[in-house]
Amino acid sequence: MDFAMTREQTMLLESLRDMGRRENFRDLAAHIDATGEFPHHLMDKYAEMGLLGMTLSPEYGGVDETALTAVLAIEELAKWSPMIAGPLFESNVGPVRVIDMFGTAEQKQRILPGVCKGEYSVSVCMTEPEAGSDLTALATTVEDRGDHLVLNGRKSFITGGGHASHYLVYTRFGETLGYKGIGAVIAEKGMPGFSFGKQEEFMGLRGMPSCDLFFDNVTIPKENVVITAGDFGNLMLTFDIERCGNAAMCLGVAGGALEEAKQYAQKRQAFGRPICEFQAVQFMMADMAMKLDAAKLLVYRAANGAGQGLPSIYEASMAKCFANEMVRDVTDNAMQIFGGYGYSREFPLERMARDARAWGVAGGTMQMLKVTMASMIFGRRFDQRK
Ligand SMILES: Cc1cc2nc3c(=O)[nH]c(=O)nc-3n(C[C@H](O)[C@H](O)[C@H](O)COP(=O)(O)OP(=O)(O)OC[C@H]3O[C@@H](n4cnc5c(N)ncnc54)[C@H](O)[C@@H]3O)c2cc1C
Repeated sequence: MDFAMTREQTMLLESLRDMGRRENFRDLAAHIDATGEFPHHLMDKYAEMGLLGMTLSPEYGGVDETALTAVLAIEELAKWSPMIAGPLFESNVGPVRVIDMFGTAEQKQRILPGVCKGEYSVSVCMTEPEAGSDLTALATTVEDRGDHLVLNGRKSFITGGGHASHYLVYTRFGETLGYKGIGAVIAEKGMPGFSFGKQEEFMGLRGMPSCDLFFDNVTIPKENVVITAGDFGNLMLTFDIERCGNAAMCLGVAGGALEEAKQYAQKRQAFGRPICEFQAVQFMMADMAMKLDAAKLLVYRAANGAGQGLPSIYEASMAKCFANEMVRDVTDNAMQIFGGYGYSREFPLERMARDARAWGVAGGTMQMLKVTMASMIFGRRFDQRK
């Protein structure tokens, strides 16, 4: 296995690092957290740099970049803050990839160029008040009315809710129960009967729009069907790319925390010496670096295996789960190295620790990923209902 970065990948990461320093992303991250304001201005900047939708098909504005390059770029920007990496996540590993892979030519032409220009973004809408881990219990429905569909239901915790222009809604087609009845349609902001709940107040990831969506007899044109009932497997397979993006966010947040702790441990004095000279601090740093590197290997393996397509479910689940656990651990220990200042809002560590908590729930919980891995280890499906 060769994980050496290409010259283009190295140059891309250097340019992102330079941009972060030049534009003071460290302060921007603190500002976003303090105000809860989504950094809209980044969309134009990233679009100009060709970072939005770089994994998408060239005929629709992308450059067919690999999942690994997107993961590396997301990781680099998430070292400042997941909010700063957010537009790359949405446009390269999010539900827009479902449209790119399984959408019709008309859907791609209508949506993807706008995503690459930063004019559009697409949210994934799976979770419902009574269907989270148990997605197959979802109750949102579309009813076929001949020349169009009618969508009814409610979605919860939708990232980008209220901000995104398009929503890939996982829904039941007709009466068929279980996963066999589930497909996906595109709902567009502004469609009559489509409304948003209040914005969530999460402990972290402040600045990330998130809310419930309400569909009350929303007319969906038939050309907005992306995946019909019965193709649920494809929907979930594509979601594994998003899982690699989630894991990349964890690598970034942990990498940012590790760097902060490294700088601090060399400056902070106790007993007349920099605290990096104490073995307890050195061991914490070594443990953090070791776990971060182990997570990187798993995440890069999963993303590398995806190429321009899809990663293995097993590798993506393992990478996300390990990275989700790792980032909680690393940010917690980095905070400890900061002593009392780690607990203060004057310093970035408590923000990083708050941001770290989300990833092991968003995109499927760590427990559910372990259920998936176990079923692959044993070569059989474990029905969670029986
Ligand atoms: C920051 C954030 C962003 C999100 N963004 C989106 C989004 O954009 N789109 C979207 O659709 N959803 C989104 N979600 C929702 C997320 O996908 C769900 O919260 C998640 O899938 C868990 O569902 P739940 O909250 O209903 O928990 P539940 O399913 O009720 O689970 C509760 C607990 O029980 C455990 N559990 C449940 N069943 C089992 C089982 N069989 N075995 C072992 N343990 C089990 C879970 O692991 C969890 O610990 C987001 C959530 C967060 C926090």
